[in-house]
Amino acid sequence: MLQFTCGKMKSRFLQVLLLLGLSCWGTGSAMAELKVASLHPLLTDLAKQIGGDKVTVLAVVAAGTDVHHFSPSTQHMKQVAGADLVLASGKGLENYLGKLRDNMSAGQVLLEVGEAIPSLELSEAAALMEAAEQGHAGHVHGGVDPHWWNSVDNMQRAIRVVTAAFSKADASNAAVYETNAAAYGKKLGELKKWAKREFSKIPSGHRKLATAHLSLGYFAQEFGFKLIPVQGLNPEIPATSKDLAAAVNTIRSSKVRAVFPEQGVNPKHLEKIAAETGVVFSGELVADGNGIGPLSTFTGAFEHNVREMVKALVPAP
Ligand SMILES: [Zn+2]
Repeated sequence: MLQFTCGKMKSRFLQVLLLLGLSCWGTGSAMAELKVASLHPLLTDLAKQIGGDKVTVLAVVAAGTDVHHFSPSTQHMKQVAGADLVLASGKGLENYLGKLRDNMSAGQVLLEVGEAIPSLELSEAAALMEAAEQGHAGHVHGGVDPHWWNSVDNMQRAIRVVTAAFSKADASNAAVYETNAAAYGKKLGELKKWAKREFSKIPSGHRKLATAHLSLGYFAQEFGFKLIPVQGLNPEIPATSKDLAAAVNTIRSSKVRAVFPEQGVNPKHLEKIAAETGVVFSGELVADGNGIGPLSTFTGAFEHNVREMVKALVPAP
């Protein structure tokens, strides 16, 4: 397939190509052989960490995108068509994978990274909340929590899955992928140790995360937090005074210390609840891997979340 290198093109020519719907796969190393399309910002980061300069990674789902409501356009489909390997999050997050598969050619591989990671079942109530939050039935995740990326252990598993796929698709660079994966895995091991040290500052009775979007299940499981989903608060539907009263009751009866707004989720209900109950209104968490700038990487978002939680939940001296 004909490839173009962005840097060598006059900007006008590039604009014409983009208007014609041709994807630009030349932004990585000029020598990179393996072309990877990514359907989740944190998989874009992971592919770059493991691939280094041997892989060209195209973020089909760009940083800052709402990963629950993304739907591929014709342009996105054309971008995917240029890839050897397509990385998806899996666990039902991308409800468009069937459509994508139908458009892929025989040589292309679609890898649902989350399929190799143990699933956390949503409780019945939580599943209902997720369904309501998504707005329509097409986004119900079949009772499985799709947010596997909010766990260091799961990201370590994802490193192994993606490294194996890269090595299979491009055996000549397998040693490079293994070396990069080992270095990144070591970094994540240190990150987890740091997070545990930070969380040890929070009294165990304060380790409760109240959010309006049920996104931190894997995280809570790994680091010993209790999740307090603030029921009835769909950010897309105006909350009734009854809903808000119920949420205020939950916050009080659960002895919650803080409420946590999330990147990309309207914080107005949580603001009202914090004002009503006097609990801490935390800085925004990045829970869907949809941060931008320094928060667009796994380590950037994770460190940010740990710092915000510690700030909100460690008692004042
Ligand atoms: Zn989410």
